[in-house]
Amino acid sequence: AREAVLASATGPGTTADGHAVPLLANIGGPRDVAAALEYGAEGIGLYRTEFLFLDRAEAPSAAEQEAAYLEVLDAFPGGRVIVRTLDAGADKPLAFLPPGAHEPNPALGERGVRLFRTHPEIMDTQLAALAAAAARSAGRLQVMAPMVATAEEAAWFADACDAAGLPSAGVMVEIPSAALRASDLAVRAGFLSIGTNDLAQYALAADRQLGALTGLQDAWQPALLDLVALAAAGAAERGRQCGACGEAAADPALACVLVGLGVTSLSMSAPALPAVRAALSRHTRQQCHLAAAAARAAVSPADARAEARAHLPGLA
Ligand code: PEP
Ligand code: MG
Repeated sequence: AREAVLASATGPGTTADGHAVPLLANIGGPRDVAAALEYGAEGIGLYRTEFLFLDRAEAPSAAEQEAAYLEVLDAFPGGRVIVRTLDAGADKPLAFLPPGAHEPNPALGERGVRLFRTHPEIMDTQLAALAAAAARSAGRLQVMAPMVATAEEAAWFADACDAAGLPSAGVMVEIPSAALRASDLAVRAGFLSIGTNDLAQYALAADRQLGALTGLQDAWQPALLDLVALAAAGAAERGRQCGACGEAAADPALACVLVGLGVTSLSMSAPALPAVRAALSRHTRQQCHLAAAAARAAVSPADARAEARAHLPGLA
């Protein structure tokens, strides 16, 4: 049965009316590539590079990083590979960094791209490694920064990538300010990618690590859907692509809603790909738009899901 699901659900992501929606995989390192290939990912939409940095006495060298990036590129001869720069700091402390100031609220601390501004040597090494890998990737490697809050940060990161010889730097939209001002970010960012996990955490002020708050973390929260719509519209205003790479993309109904909100590609953990591919193939883009509008008109996550599903009759 598993073989049947995989066989009937490979090939590029597309809506029933032929609108392409690339379906990509989230990975944490080369060891996850086999599953991405098995489930038919068209590329890697989120390569989390933290694994290279954590639990080590010193930062990985440029050569070691380059090898890890090339290993993933080689495993996907035809697809794009979006590498996210280091998203450590605060709750994921780096053993080789001297402890900074105590942070009472680590989720609001010096993490993501903020760490690059205070530790440019870590950024320079990672961007150099990425540029070396990109030079051998025929344009398939793309870079994006996590935890970007402002257009100024997006421009700063784009400048750093330019200086390193990297083309088209993207930024993640996972802070509400970034979603609200997405069109400003997209002036310099080559593409946007929505991180729904953190975007929900920050929009609803609900720690994503607290099981007691899962109701607030629900990706069907209408406020989160509004922010996704704003981000996608802001990107489109500048002619940029806007993907989604949080776990929301792994829910087949929500994946259709994200497309209806204007998201242009979906990245998720590999086992979710076949069901999302099947759900998209059974609905037109217009049905996705109608489902998205119905979900945004709801006032609770449960209602949003129910309203959306009424417009998505092909769901199992
Ligand atoms: C997100 O925040 O949605 C995301 C994709 O990044 P991570 O889960 O690694 O924080
Ligand atoms: Mg995140």
